[in-house]
Amino acid sequence: MTTFDVIDPTTEERVRTVDLASAEETDQAIARARTAFQTWRRFDPADRGRLLRRFADAVDGAIEELAQLEVRNSGHTIGNARWEAGNVRDVLSYYSAAPERLFGRQIPVAGGVDITFKEPLGVVGIIVPWNFPMPIAGWGFAPALAAGNTVVLKPAELTPLTAIRLAELALEAGLPEDVFTVLPGKGSVVGQRLVTNPEVPKICFTGSTEVGQAIMAEAARHLKRVTLELGGKSANIVFADSDLEQAAATAPYAVFDNAGQDCCARSRILVQRSVYDRFLSLLEPAVTGVNVGAPGDESTEMGPLISAHQRETVSSFVEGDDVDVAMRGSAPEGPGWFYPPTVVLPRTTKDRVWTEEVFGPVVAILPFEDEAEAVTMANDTAYGLSGSIWTGDVGRALRVARQVEAGNLSVNSHSSVRYSTPFGGFKASGIGRELGPDALDNFTEVKNVFISTGDA
Ligand code: NAD
Repeated sequence: MTTFDVIDPTTEERVRTVDLASAEETDQAIARARTAFQTWRRFDPADRGRLLRRFADAVDGAIEELAQLEVRNSGHTIGNARWEAGNVRDVLSYYSAAPERLFGRQIPVAGGVDITFKEPLGVVGIIVPWNFPMPIAGWGFAPALAAGNTVVLKPAELTPLTAIRLAELALEAGLPEDVFTVLPGKGSVVGQRLVTNPEVPKICFTGSTEVGQAIMAEAARHLKRVTLELGGKSANIVFADSDLEQAAATAPYAVFDNAGQDCCARSRILVQRSVYDRFLSLLEPAVTGVNVGAPGDESTEMGPLISAHQRETVSSFVEGDDVDVAMRGSAPEGPGWFYPPTVVLPRTTKDRVWTEEVFGPVVAILPFEDEAEAVTMANDTAYGLSGSIWTGDVGRALRVARQVEAGNLSVNSHSSVRYSTPFGGFKASGIGRELGPDALDNFTEVKNVFISTGDA
């Protein structure tokens, strides 16, 4: 049996040793989920909804336990971790209404009645990254289960603990065995097998763009459906006519939240040149004021990075490159993979720190002249996940929002995710949308049935 030592990124101590599933065990779990699907899909829709509400209640009762587990496994701040567990509860309760509302259509045709059904797909494979273990799992399994599918979910190697607990809570809530299976394992073993096993017709993958591309190529060989949520390099565009104090005070949290390990991080700040210097001077106290420390402390705003490897990757963008560090916050000494909030001034728009996803607490700032240049610079990236627009002019806000090539934009705020609205990326940031009313379409096939009425 292969095992994996889960390490606390704050103390660098072992939290637990987890057994990793083999390819054969993955096939067996898929086969059991396939059998369970035959029953789950035929459940009375009201009962399926009721079980999902019970699952949501079980998560609600375990919010603190799940949050504390995430603090230890992932180094997330306790405040964030509570929000993340609450998000799983909310997504479950949002989609618990779906089984009874998965309407088809009746389409007028000659000679009979034509109706459509939204049929579940079968066993859905969900592959989760380490940066938001709970929410990203829930965005996949809640709508998938609501639509009548069964799920085999692979958490990231580094962060399996909350997913394992969620599967236990599902059983405690009364979900039948094998409807929702969590299978810790390697991407190259369990993840790969989910993608190649022909009994899995749909893969939801969140992670890096490179792995997403490889999964899509492999899925194409089997004509599997895929939803891909990939990387980002989002722009925070600050116009001179905005509330500059508010824009500067909130900018650090739009990139340093979760220590920057957020696909929606606004890691490029674009500031109109006429207010560039003033923005930098307003930004400095906001950056140095970020409270970095032990994630279990209620007042901590930023914890450690997930691993020593991730810290090396992040520092390579600052230490190894020709970048000028404009300002830097603090980080605790001693154990823990902490990295201080860092603001850099790239020399050109070709610099690595401006073009590549850092996935750490490093933000790059450049000035722009006018609206047209802001849009050009914002779109000068392979990615297109999220972004923010700060302006007092509502017409400009909408003009720019329509032109920025990204799936999730916010005006005078940095919000990206609400469970009731769609989430996903343009360009290299992904394919498909999660959350919101339409996510169920990604977990169903439309079937058309014509019933002859015997009319001439
Ligand atoms: P990763 O691509 O290395 O791994 C993601 C998951 O895929 C893990 O569970 C891993 O085990 C699995 N995996 C790896 N190789 C595989 C293979 N060949 N076949 C099947 N599965 C495989 O990504 P990561 O480092 O865990 O996460 C960070 C990345 O995720 C960042 O690029 C980030 O932007 C992205 N991300 C995107 C979103 C979004 O919604 N767009 C959200 C969070 C993270």
